[in-house]
Amino acid sequence: MYALVENNHIDLINNLKRRGIIDDDEVYDTMLQVDRGRYIKENPYVDTPIYISHGVTISSPHMHALSLKRLMNVLKPGSRAIDVGSGSGYLTVCMAIRTNVLKNKNSFVIGIERVKELVDFSIGNIKKDKPELLNIENFKIIHKNIYQVNEEEQKELGFFDAIHVGASASELPDILIKLLAENGKLIIPLEEGPTQVLYEITKKNGKIIKDRLFEVCFVTLKKN
Ligand code: SAH
Repeated sequence: MYALVENNHIDLINNLKRRGIIDDDEVYDTMLQVDRGRYIKENPYVDTPIYISHGVTISSPHMHALSLKRLMNVLKPGSRAIDVGSGSGYLTVCMAIRTNVLKNKNSFVIGIERVKELVDFSIGNIKKDKPELLNIENFKIIHKNIYQVNEEEQKELGFFDAIHVGASASELPDILIKLLAENGKLIIPLEEGPTQVLYEITKKNGKIIKDRLFEVCFVTLKKN
């Protein structure tokens, strides 16, 4: 029988695999370790975005899977990764698992979130799921609007191999280009007329290369 509504995390991930959305062992292994039921209460195992609060949603599992897949070649043990608009914390924790922040001290993973209540919400979720992440120096959820990161903070943060943006921008924010490491990759939805398109941005020899992927639907990356 083909179930439309899964009621546990393993079935949700296996269903994404059966549908061909997860066709990569690394994405499968990573997402299997982060139970969506710890990050959202209502129908966590349905492949759909779900309202959290403050006008935002936890992205759908298929969107998390597709974004992770694009980032896999820059998201490894020892990588530096940032999740902009970390919301529920789901994808930030996937980044932490994949880079093995607990054991690999070169790995550095941060989530940046504009709404303080959502920072607290994600920390509560992580406490339920992977509390050990909250005791290490190389994993953090920061309360900050990405557009308000100043030069000093930018230098302190350093460069990132993998940048994920979970909200849609009207144009590519300069700050993200500055934070992107050489050979690093940035996944961001950008508005194009009435729609949004997911872009993969890479930095090669200091040059920015933009690849247009596919149409998506995200909440807005707020300027203030
Ligand atoms: N990947 C997250 C997506 C949450 S929705 C998840 O699946 O849970 C997008 C998030 O971006 C929201 O939590 C919103 O508050 C946050 N956000 C919007 N504009 C922002 C900005 N300028 N800086 C940081 N976070 C922002």
